[in-house]
Amino acid sequence: MPRSNRPRRAPGGRPGQVPAHDDGGDLSRILYGGQRTETRRGREWVVQAISGASSTKPYVCPGCTLPVEPGTPHVVAWRADGLFGEDSDLAARRHWHTHCWKIS
Ligand SMILES: [Zn+2]
Repeated sequence: MPRSNRPRRAPGGRPGQVPAHDDGGDLSRILYGGQRTETRRGREWVVQAISGASSTKPYVCPGCTLPVEPGTPHVVAWRADGLFGEDSDLAARRHWHTHCWKIS
């Protein structure tokens, strides 16, 4: 008589399961939660912290012009004044080294 081999629960759980969407995911992360507003050089900016795990692509930091390597925790900033419309501001968002943003 065959035994049921259906596990009642996954042993040890299943860590590291990734949601189906992988690319463009940083945009949805930007849009949902974890944002703050800062004033720099007389302008308001929306600043979003990106964890190393969420950083999967290289970017060029506008502060030091060096690459922000994948896996590096950093910040994304875009203008909060809506001068060019929210979509345009978001499209023009820049990825900064956390340090470079702080001293900018
Ligand atoms: Zn930098």
